[in-house]
Amino acid sequence: MNENDIKAIVAQVIANMQLSDTPAEKRLGIFEDMNDAIAAAIEAQKVMQKMPMDFREKIISNIRRLTIENAELLARMGVEETGMGNVGDKILKHKLLAEKTPGTEDITTRVWSGDRGLTLIEMGPFGVIGAITPTTNPSETILCNSIGMIAGGNTVVFNPHPAAIKTSQFAIELVNRASMEAGGPCNVATSVVKPTLDTSKIMMSHKAIQLIAATGGPGVVTTVLSSGRRGIGAGAGNPPALVDDTADIPKAARDIVNGCTFDNNLPCIAEKEIVAVESIADELKHHLLENGCYEATPEQIEKLAQTVITPKGALNRKCVGRDAKTLMRMIGVEVPSNVRCIIFEGEKEHPLIATELMMPILGIVRAKDIDDAIEKAVWLEHGNRHSAHIHSKNIDNITKYGKAIDTAILVKNAPSYAALGFGGEGYCTFTIASRTGEGLTSAQTFTKRRHCIMSDSLCIR
Ligand code: NAD
Repeated sequence: MNENDIKAIVAQVIANMQLSDTPAEKRLGIFEDMNDAIAAAIEAQKVMQKMPMDFREKIISNIRRLTIENAELLARMGVEETGMGNVGDKILKHKLLAEKTPGTEDITTRVWSGDRGLTLIEMGPFGVIGAITPTTNPSETILCNSIGMIAGGNTVVFNPHPAAIKTSQFAIELVNRASMEAGGPCNVATSVVKPTLDTSKIMMSHKAIQLIAATGGPGVVTTVLSSGRRGIGAGAGNPPALVDDTADIPKAARDIVNGCTFDNNLPCIAEKEIVAVESIADELKHHLLENGCYEATPEQIEKLAQTVITPKGALNRKCVGRDAKTLMRMIGVEVPSNVRCIIFEGEKEHPLIATELMMPILGIVRAKDIDDAIEKAVWLEHGNRHSAHIHSKNIDNITKYGKAIDTAILVKNAPSYAALGFGGEGYCTFTIASRTGEGLTSAQTFTKRRHCIMSDSLCIR
């Protein structure tokens, strides 16, 4: 490396530090008062509404570029601020959202053309959308929501999680920079210096906000769905990975560990427990151990349960999104550096199995046959209708499982992240509307249907 290379790296580091250290009130789109943030987004939406689709697409392509350019910085900020996840996987998540979140191509028109004329269903904007975002994927959700909402012709007011404010505000600034670089308005995405439950209430009750997208745990989704506004509820999951006796067991073990450990198990779609048919359970365990799993002793599991879950039954936030070695260190056990995931066997009711932990601890529940396995997996999903995974070559088993568990996502024979287009077909989102049924949200989710009817004309056949 020569002197110029070193100078360039130092200049980049200083520029990045300046970017990440800008005070909140100086960031584009960030206001002291929630009402001002909403008013600014309303003004920006008036400009957005008049823009041709091509122009929206220019803004979106700038968001994609800025996300890729800042992927490492955003990843580092997220890990530093929340203490959750890991930088390498968060970089991949940002690149994925930049490349695979649908833009304006998702906004399509349905047409009926016949003797009595022409009818179209067009997708129009809601206006200003309110969005509530989580700690687990803070900038990912904001950037992904912004792409889809802007593609639909909306602007957006965010109330991010208070534990991820800095990262979230930086993402909002990038969205505004993307708009201004394309010649568009500032404030296509806005928020407040200090988001709280009170600012969230102001947002939810403002008459200009006709749609609220809530990405988070059960509490926030219930609050939004009780707000009297239309809500998109992207809530909690507890995805089981079912493995039957027809599966390719070495591959199933590899896929499950890769999915479960991605970003230290933060994604809501990630494998949270295994249900294995008895006849292959030992073989599966052998391959899990070959793939960087550590089998904790019953005493260690007892200690982990007491550390991870508070006496009141809540999750200890200091454990969420931590890696396996850190979790084991918390109970005074040093494990080899190649350990990626902690496994143990238990009944489905075990708190470390039944609870959505968001950390690389995988309980294994044995089942006597496929029907028993399906029953246990359905119980463990708790009716969230979010995500479920299966490793099987038996189409009947897969079909039976899919019907019984009825989730927005069902990944077959792949790591869970294939559902987001990472090593699988399809598109990316960080808002999976499990509770309200839209499934993987995209630009069209953030639009209203409009019937446009031309009677007895324009059918030129
Ligand atoms: P969380 O529920 O603690 O917080 C999510 C957001 O909701 C935050 O912005 C928080 O400030 C806000 N919030 C919480 N209670 C609220 C209330 N009563 N009124 C208004 N706002 C409220 O969740 P988290 O820890 O940040 O994220 C993890 C959870 O989110 C997990 O359960 C995970 O499964 C879920 N999640 C779901 C999806 C999905 O697409 N379905 C995506 C990511 C995370």
